[in-house]
Amino acid sequence: MTMPTDLPVAVIGAGPVGLAAAAHLALRKMPFVVLERGLQSAAVVRYWAHVTVFSPWRFNIDTAARELLQTSGWSFPDAKLDSDPTGRELIDNYLEPLAELQSISPFIRYARDLSCLCSSRRICLLSNSPFRTAQSRAAG
Ligand SMILES: Cc1cc2nc3c(=O)[nH]c(=O)nc-3n(C[C@H](O)[C@H](O)[C@H](O)COP(=O)(O)OP(=O)(O)OC[C@H]3O[C@@H](n4cnc5c(N)ncnc54)[C@H](O)[C@@H]3O)c2cc1C
Repeated sequence: MTMPTDLPVAVIGAGPVGLAAAAHLALRKMPFVVLERGLQSAAVVRYWAHVTVFSPWRFNIDTAARELLQTSGWSFPDAKLDSDPTGRELIDNYLEPLAELQSISPFIRYARDLSCLCSSRRICLLSNSPFRTAQSRAAG
C-alpha cells in the first residue's frame, strides 16, 4: 500500500496525549492537525479537574512539550516536580499553555470547527476538510 506523504498527520483529541503528540510533530516540523471533539483542550480532564492525580508532575510533562514550552518562556519549578497536581493544575500550568503555543494552537480544530463529529464507533468524514478518516470494522 502506498502512503501519501503530503498530507498532515491527524491527531485525534487534544488531551494530554494528543497535545504531546502535537508537540513531537511540531518539533520535527511535520505538518499535523489535532481534531478535538470538545470545545477546548483537555476536555476530559476538565470533568475531573478537582481530583489529584496519582503521578507526580515529573511524569506528566512530556519532553517535547517541555522543550517547546520553554522556548516560549514557560518554566516549571523543580521543587514541585515530585508533587501530585490536581487536574486543574495540570490544565492551568501545562495543558492550556501547551495548547496555546503558536506552534500548536493554529492546528487544533475544535468541535465548533468541524462539520461532522466522530462518535467513537462511527466512520467520520469531514466533508469540508482534506481529511478522510475511516474506522476499522469490528469483527462480525
Ligand atoms: C481522576 C483521574 C486521575 C488520573 N490520574 C492519572 C495519573 O496520575 N497518571 C496517569 O498517567 N493517568 C491518570 N489518569 C488517566 C488520565 O485520564 C490519562 O493519563 C490522560 O488523561 C490520558 O490522556 P489522553 O489524552 O490519552 O486522554 P483524555 O484525557 O481522555 O483526552 C482525550 C481527548 O480526546 C478527545 N476525544 C475523544 N474521542 C474523540 C474523538 N472521537 N474525536 C475527537 N476527539 C476525541 C476528548 O474530548 C479529549 O479531549 C487519571 C484519570 C482520572 C479520571
